[in-house]
Amino acid sequence: MPQPVITPSKTMSAPQKALIKLGLKRDIDLALHLPLRYEDETRIVKLRDAREGDTAQIEATVTACEITQRPRRQLLVTVDDGSDTCVMRFFSFYPSHQKALAVGNRIRARGEVKGGFMGLTMMHPTFKAAGGHLAEALTPVYSTVAGLAQAYLRRAVITGLDHADLSETMPPGVPWPDPRGAWTLRDALQFLHHPTPDVSLAALEDRSHPAWVRLKCEELLAQQLSQLTAKRERDLLRAPALKMKRGALHDQLHKALPFGLTNAQQRVGQEIAQDLSRPVPMHRLLQGDVGAGKTVVAALAAMVAIDAGWQCALMAPTEILATQHFAKLVGWLEPLGVKVAWLIGSQKKKERAAMLALIESGEAALVVGTHAVIQEHVKFKCLGLAVIDEQHRFGVAQRLALRGKMQAEGMEPHMLMMTATPIPRTLAMSYYADLDVSVIDELPPGRTPIVTRVVSDHRRGEVVSRIGAQLQEGRQVYWVCPLIEESEALDLSNATQTHADLSEALPGVMVGLLHSRMPVAEKKAVMELFTAGVMGVLVSTTVIEVGVDVPNASLMVIEHAERFGLSQLHQLRGRVGRGAAASACVLLYGTPEGGRLSETARERLRAMVETNDGFEIARRDLEIRGPGEFLGARQSGAPLLRFADLETDGHLLDWARALAPHMLDQHAFLAERHIGRWLGGKSEYLKA
Ligand code: ADP
Ligand code: MG
Repeated sequence: MPQPVITPSKTMSAPQKALIKLGLKRDIDLALHLPLRYEDETRIVKLRDAREGDTAQIEATVTACEITQRPRRQLLVTVDDGSDTCVMRFFSFYPSHQKALAVGNRIRARGEVKGGFMGLTMMHPTFKAAGGHLAEALTPVYSTVAGLAQAYLRRAVITGLDHADLSETMPPGVPWPDPRGAWTLRDALQFLHHPTPDVSLAALEDRSHPAWVRLKCEELLAQQLSQLTAKRERDLLRAPALKMKRGALHDQLHKALPFGLTNAQQRVGQEIAQDLSRPVPMHRLLQGDVGAGKTVVAALAAMVAIDAGWQCALMAPTEILATQHFAKLVGWLEPLGVKVAWLIGSQKKKERAAMLALIESGEAALVVGTHAVIQEHVKFKCLGLAVIDEQHRFGVAQRLALRGKMQAEGMEPHMLMMTATPIPRTLAMSYYADLDVSVIDELPPGRTPIVTRVVSDHRRGEVVSRIGAQLQEGRQVYWVCPLIEESEALDLSNATQTHADLSEALPGVMVGLLHSRMPVAEKKAVMELFTAGVMGVLVSTTVIEVGVDVPNASLMVIEHAERFGLSQLHQLRGRVGRGAAASACVLLYGTPEGGRLSETARERLRAMVETNDGFEIARRDLEIRGPGEFLGARQSGAPLLRFADLETDGHLLDWARALAPHMLDQHAFLAERHIGRWLGGKSEYLKA
């Protein structure tokens, strides 16, 4: 159902513009803009019965009305409703207030009741003359923005409710996941906007009321339908069928690897090869904890494409990571006669030109790089497979751009997206339902679990001695300094200071410094020294966060660990424990002068100590932060679930997942209306 795109225009009033800013463009959007909470204007409360903190509506007689100057100028009005008295304070007031609140007048007032030394008080209550009719339903309070008054919004919502098409989109006879879901959409919305006063406020607030259940079912179904539609549309597209060739590069690489693949790597390798062999673009998300060995799986997939005569591109989010992938892949592939090209932003003009030529002629079968790979002047001869490492670091546009590098008319390349930030099952099933997912759920053998300790910054000295011990054993150490968002300069001085301190404390040891504002050549030189094992300690800001692989490093110190997010800590910790040596991670925390760590900071540090399992970390992270931040690039443009909560509504999600294919097959028209109603034009993001 295409909707006209409405954008703010000069002729619109301020509240109209504000509505659009809130995303309330269509009648249905208004109807689905549900109250944050309710106010009860259906009853008059006796002051004696009002509880502290309640917003109460009372009717009472004014017994005193005076202006005082202390502690500041204010109007003090005392009222009595026969059960108790209450003092109302107004800091801003006009003569009209005094007139309306003159002694002897009977008024109806609403405000938050506070207890206190002087008895009950209300700050700036609203008031009018007593009497008049009482509301029949609870009064909704909506989330709003500046310039949009509740009263205006309430009227707009009522109009929206009246005009919106709320006809049934559920196929006849659908089994509800919950008998409570069996309300019609119209009834549910009417009710949630204007509930009758006898309703359980608790059921409204925790969203367990049947009307809420109906809305959550609708919302989850819309999400499943739109993703399934996107998937089916993609299935109509064509891609080169890349069939495995026995004895060719794929098998040769497999044989030449210095290690055997884990069962999990073999399994996902087969899943990918299966996809590649079909003439339909693959859209697969490869999840695997840090260090699980995703790179080699990608390399083997690349060999399948190259064996079939197509090129492969591998895009990584940082130059360090791209450089490292390049080095590793050249080491594996050049002996097999595969030409690998690379593209990064800071490359010399001449080198870049040479690379571009190799890519365009098709001589380079594999292209590794950063965002530089998707620039306009990069032309592939025949791109068959695109791999995106750390996919959550890329946006929709970038993924689309990479896909657009396919030259063949009417075709798309296969896409493999990799991530080390595991996505909890419920999230994967909802937000990523259009993708196929492969999981490497096993680490290569011989790794010992990383022991994590939380240590106060006061004991820094002990940590430095521990570094000395590691170096004695020929190991290497990372020391990460935090990103202080407000000030990159502070950030840097922090890392520089630590670098100086460690250099002094560890004489005869090469201590390196790496931060994002260093010239690229310098960064590369530092990384090379560390990778080669010459440099003992690497102090860095979070630039090493993703993907860096130096198996000899066995100690990771994270300074001000309390400032990092949980997944980020886990990613950082994953830089060690990559070799056979027992590895450790020290989380140094600092507390503000005499202060304590916040509860969430403590929860994060505790989670790090308690588990090394990326999926468990992800689950806890979801618990602490909610899904919004979790979705990385996908979140921008992705309509987040507004009503359903994946923690508590898993059974509704299962229901929606089961219903979606049936509905698309048997009730395509209803499905289309349902998606249009809920998502309007917001399903573009699914294309990437
Ligand atoms: P990630 O999944 O985090 O990208 P990498 O691909 O960087 O992990 O792999 C981590 C390290 O493990 C690399 O040094 C890689 O060569 C090595 N590795 C990968 N697979 C295996 C395996 N099956 N056995 C032993 N080592 C492996
Ligand atoms: Mg990696």
